[in-house]
Amino acid sequence: MSKERDLDSYSEMLAEVQAFHTKHDFKGTGGEDLTYRVALMTEELGEIAEAVTKGKPVSDLAEDTADLLILLIGTAISAEFDLKKAFWEKMEKIQGRKSKMINGRIRVSEFKD
Ligand SMILES: [Mg+2]
Repeated sequence: MSKERDLDSYSEMLAEVQAFHTKHDFKGTGGEDLTYRVALMTEELGEIAEAVTKGKPVSDLAEDTADLLILLIGTAISAEFDLKKAFWEKMEKIQGRKSKMINGRIRVSEFKD
């Protein structure tokens, strides 16, 4: 792959994850099954937790966070939704929310109570 890539571009990231799915035929081999993908994402979240709670180097945290991001992008491919659009819609929503301190930590939520 010698083509110049814009590393800041979401569409390039999406295309790369799509190429990974195509290379291994995820669609035809269960790799895009949503229940399986939830299990894979949970596994990566566990690795992220381990990196933090076991005091591992930040490079481990970065790698497992990237694993999760790749899975998230792949889940958008699998379920056929526009993750970039969902991201910006959700950011707009949460930017308008209020925050509260709960048990010494900030929480930004709808606070329906
Ligand atoms: Mg990992």
